[in-house]
Amino acid sequence: MARRKKIYEGKAKILYEGPEPGTIVQYFKDDATAFNAEKKDVIDGKGVLNNRLSEYFMTGLSQIGVPTHFIRRLNMREQLVRNCEIIPLEVIVRNYAAGSMSQRLGIAEGTQLPRPIVEYCYKDDALGDPLVTEEHIAAFGWASQQDMDDILSLALRVNDFMSGVMLAVGIRLVDFKIEIGRVYEGDFQRLIVADEISPDSCRLWDIETGQKLDKDVFRRDLGNLTDAYSEVARRLGVLPKTNVAKPTLIN
Ligand code: UDP
Repeated sequence: MARRKKIYEGKAKILYEGPEPGTIVQYFKDDATAFNAEKKDVIDGKGVLNNRLSEYFMTGLSQIGVPTHFIRRLNMREQLVRNCEIIPLEVIVRNYAAGSMSQRLGIAEGTQLPRPIVEYCYKDDALGDPLVTEEHIAAFGWASQQDMDDILSLALRVNDFMSGVMLAVGIRLVDFKIEIGRVYEGDFQRLIVADEISPDSCRLWDIETGQKLDKDVFRRDLGNLTDAYSEVARRLGVLPKTNVAKPTLIN
């Protein structure tokens, strides 16, 4: 098979040119990074789990009418997605205080917020993805007012969907990050959910025990990351079949 052209390599994924125009192959690596890549490791099986989990969430979103970049899963580590122009913002939705919000505002981790709070960070690794306001976003032309209205509505719909899916399997969706892409269709453009939705970009706590089932397990050295992600996948019924022991046939 001809070698595919690599478009971009990030911390957790590699993007290759897709088989048809307007498509991209997204390859999920096992690499884990935290604290702006100051902490790094290779976690066996993480890429396979995130590929499956992102497929599961993106497919569910599209079933309730939330547009996403996901087209189809290709294999254990790769999925075909729509090529889009990524808006240079990390859109964070928070239901409970944690992480940087707890530090910034002095609110104990786990405190329920009065309502979901949406924050925006400017996507720039060299600057450590700083928090920005809608004033910055408008003034620097990263997104228009119409885009911001659409982004807020997408973020809140993703939050409602993800909160419900997680609640159904005994998991609290504390917060998450999404990225938004712009696609052009004839004379029109619209915004879609892009990148990935996985335990790498969410905070997921077991409702009963408070056990963390997300990337904080790696950030804070709380145990085995693959076990945590596998637990999320198992509860949702999306564990890859290869992880299930094959019954021995006797006749
Ligand atoms: N997040 C992410 N990528 C980032 C920054 C944050 O996926 O570059 C996610 C993170 O996993 C969490 C949420 O966004 O679910 C809020 O993260 P926070 O601002 O608290 O930052 P952190 O404490 O993780 O540095």
